Amino acid sequence: MPRIITRPDGLDLDSPGRRDYWVALEHDSLWGDHLIPLTVMVGKKCKPGEGLVTFGSNHGNEYEGPVVIKHLLKEIDLKDVVGRIILVPVLNASAFKSGTRSSVRDDDVNLNRAFVDGAGTTTSLNGITHRIARFVREYIWPRVHIVIDLHSGGPNYRFAQCSSFHPIDDPEQSKVIEDTARWFGTPLVITYQNVTPGLLPSEAERLGKITVGTELGWGEAVDIDGVKYGRQGVLAAAIHLGQLKGRIKPIGHHAAKTQHRVEMVDRACFTVAPFTGHYEPLIPCGAKVKKGDVVGLLHDFERVDDAPHPARAGVTGIVIAQAYRSTVPQGTHYVVTGKVVW
Ligand SMILES: [Zn+2]
Repeated sequence: MPRIITRPDGLDLDSPGRRDYWVALEHDSLWGDHLIPLTVMVGKKCKPGEGLVTFGSNHGNEYEGPVVIKHLLKEIDLKDVVGRIILVPVLNASAFKSGTRSSVRDDDVNLNRAFVDGAGTTTSLNGITHRIARFVREYIWPRVHIVIDLHSGGPNYRFAQCSSFHPIDDPEQSKVIEDTARWFGTPLVITYQNVTPGLLPSEAERLGKITVGTELGWGEAVDIDGVKYGRQGVLAAAIHLGQLKGRIKPIGHHAAKTQHRVEMVDRACFTVAPFTGHYEPLIPCGAKVKKGDVVGLLHDFERVDDAPHPARAGVTGIVIAQAYRSTVPQGTHYVVTGKVVW
């Protein structure tokens, strides 16, 4: 069946059955629409306000998420769906088309900073990216209690692959989120600072939803393990949280019991590049380090005879991320280290 092209008010996200849509949001300057692929599967026991949504391409240059969700369009069978599953392989259709983090061909806004007051409802915040945020708020949030936002490192960071969430005050919500995050099988489960405004997952968390993000790969590529982890995490969440029939076994570092939970909340976790230079990693992401250990070197080729600047771990723990692009602008958090919780 061809996908139905519809404005948001033409979507049926509630009746039992499967529907495949292109959600059409008006283009900012052309006679045309941005088309967001969205598939909804609703089982007979679906409860109002409950369901799972998974998004790929919140950022347009991170590709494991879109690949995982594209596979799940075929892999999830409607007859196994108990509750509601909403699959959005490419949420920011504008940024995905340009292969960039933000919607550079349109309003140049980063969707993962666009969940702010007035997004899509005030004239000053009415470009495509803020209107995507408005669409998620008005049509998706009221129908789901599980949110999985699949990210990767893009061109700037290499990662020890992880699932992630912010520190959550409600201990019950926090426990379910941590369990859901562990099932991805990634080497790390990360809790990260929650000071950046406008994040999609922060808003979902504030609304009390079981919210998990990821970093599944890097370098604008598609990583073998990243795709496995992403697929596993979405299916495990759907099964364990009552949206999908089936059984699933742990994989990867979850199965091997080599997974670590790591916190990157303190400012000290982020090592800042003091000048623009070229970064050389000396140890891989995922390595254990002590505070002050040299993780990499920053070279200044305008002072080619000078010794490189040592990039030191800010805390004792595990190296979560490092600059991927060798050219690092001054001020970049080019080494990120996390404290080990378990
Ligand atoms: Zn991202």
